[in-house]
Amino acid sequence: MENEKNEARPLNFLEKIIEDDLKNGRVPDGKIVTRFPPEPNGYLHIGHIKSICINFGLAEKYGGRCHLRLDDTNPAKEETEYIDSIKEDIKWLGFDWGKYEFYASDYYDKLYEIAINLIKEGKAYVDELSAEEMKEYRGSLTEPGKNSPWRDRSVEENLRLFEEMKEGKYPEGSLTLRAKIDMASPNINMRDPALYRIKYAHHPRTGDKWCIYPMYDFTHPISDAIEGITHSICTLEFEDHRPAYDWACSIDGIEHTPHQYEFARLNINYLLMSKRKLLYLVNNHLVSGWDDPRMPTISGVRRRGYSPEAMKDFVSRVGVAKVEGVVDYSLMEFCVREDLNKRAKRLMAVLDPLKIVIDNYPDDKVEYFEAEDNPEDENSGKHKIAFSKNLYIEKEDFMETPVKGYHRLYPGNEIRLKYAYYIKAESVEKDENGNILAVHCTYDPESRGGTTADGRKVKGTSHWVSADHALAAEVRQYDKLFKAECPGAATGNYLDDLNPDSLKVIPAAYIEEEGAKAKVGDYLQFIRNGYYCVDMKDSSAEHMVFNRTCTLKDSWAKQKAKMGL
Ligand code: ATP
Ligand code: MG
Repeated sequence: MENEKNEARPLNFLEKIIEDDLKNGRVPDGKIVTRFPPEPNGYLHIGHIKSICINFGLAEKYGGRCHLRLDDTNPAKEETEYIDSIKEDIKWLGFDWGKYEFYASDYYDKLYEIAINLIKEGKAYVDELSAEEMKEYRGSLTEPGKNSPWRDRSVEENLRLFEEMKEGKYPEGSLTLRAKIDMASPNINMRDPALYRIKYAHHPRTGDKWCIYPMYDFTHPISDAIEGITHSICTLEFEDHRPAYDWACSIDGIEHTPHQYEFARLNINYLLMSKRKLLYLVNNHLVSGWDDPRMPTISGVRRRGYSPEAMKDFVSRVGVAKVEGVVDYSLMEFCVREDLNKRAKRLMAVLDPLKIVIDNYPDDKVEYFEAEDNPEDENSGKHKIAFSKNLYIEKEDFMETPVKGYHRLYPGNEIRLKYAYYIKAESVEKDENGNILAVHCTYDPESRGGTTADGRKVKGTSHWVSADHALAAEVRQYDKLFKAECPGAATGNYLDDLNPDSLKVIPAAYIEEEGAKAKVGDYLQFIRNGYYCVDMKDSSAEHMVFNRTCTLKDSWAKQKAKMGL
């Protein structure tokens, strides 16, 4: 994340805390240790990029390290596929946890031992209240809770019951191990939080060893403490859990005391960033998968053609603060375009083809024009483009009966073909139903390269491809997945705001022959049409598939401005 821009910006609140801690010797060995702790119950989304950049970025900046900790305490929901995707996504962003890969389940034995000690010290008890009753007893924000009738069991009884819970003698939901803290605490999370629950589920890592699983508020702080985390950075919704975090870190025998800090999560309009909702879209085939290029997942934006650098630039522009807000989608696209403008190879592609025949061009002749790969790059390479008698241009670049102010091709009008010649439309060839089959043109052999001896000017320039040389490929025109700024705000159901036009497939578009060399991971611009990439899943040498990453300009913002929104 270190670049000149970042060097110049003022420190964010986390950097201030860390610098202060380092200066005052509050960090063991002067090495900060952070962690990124995803729950492997779905693929990572754009919001997680912020957390990844903060945790790994701070470790990098201050010469510490960042652990990857998979918070796998909910066996029913976790799958190995998710773990693999999480690792791939973090690596794609350019971060490396090295050997510091941990799982909350690594600590199950230790957590169990700690729980036993708590019981022995009279600081935890086995409760028989049902979930509903527990809720009732918990009280509310304005009313204190009341003690469970099971709160004062003897240590022996608690030990026996907890042991039996572990041995699988009780059904799910019947018994819970709770911390004995304070049912009248103003903080609800401190009203005897649950430490363990019964769950009969196969765990991907611990198999069937356990049928009791530790709760987040118990597992997370202790995992942090065991790993020597110095700064445990999470999102604001955990602020109210901080006292429970500190309570767990103060349990006898816990040697290291990490501290929790909260920042505002990243929200972006037009997007949903909740794994639960994204999972619904996947399970109900409303998208093609977690990596559908319309998904706000890291794997989705990668497949869409966003670069890791653009995404890191985006989150760094958003900044780190403690106030919740919604970031504009167009800021993200701005970062994506800025990045692509610098790196994308320019190609000509005709998405909606109209056949052009240059009548006075020799039948078998082929000429090659040279184009710069990227005029924005001073070290840009060059590539060749074939020109022949039979071409395609975009349908919208021709009008048989031009409207006023139309400067592109129409009968009798001359335009420039980019890099090539001036052509003039002479006649229109139609089928029996009046559909245009081809536009017959003549070219001016003196206008090679786009200028003429007499210096005459034309107003229109079209991109084109040679029909005999172009690559026919599938092009997927992606747009926003949701059409409302805040999906679900109007009707309460985000599915109502799905954009029916979020994908338009062009089965056969024509791309200049250089396009056949494009590989997965290349960044491309189809001149005048947008930024594109090779689809990493469905494209093959025989059938290339290109995804539209984004349009060249923010047509959405323009459209909104037009409508006066
Ligand atoms: P979701 O609500 O989508 O399920 P989560 O918070 O449950 O997300 P975790 O896997 O628990 O997802 O998150 C891992 C880390 O990423 C946590 O520290 C969490 O605070 C952080 N995180 C999650 N969503 C965002 C977001 N939108 N912006 C910034 N950080 C986030
Ligand atoms: Mg979660």
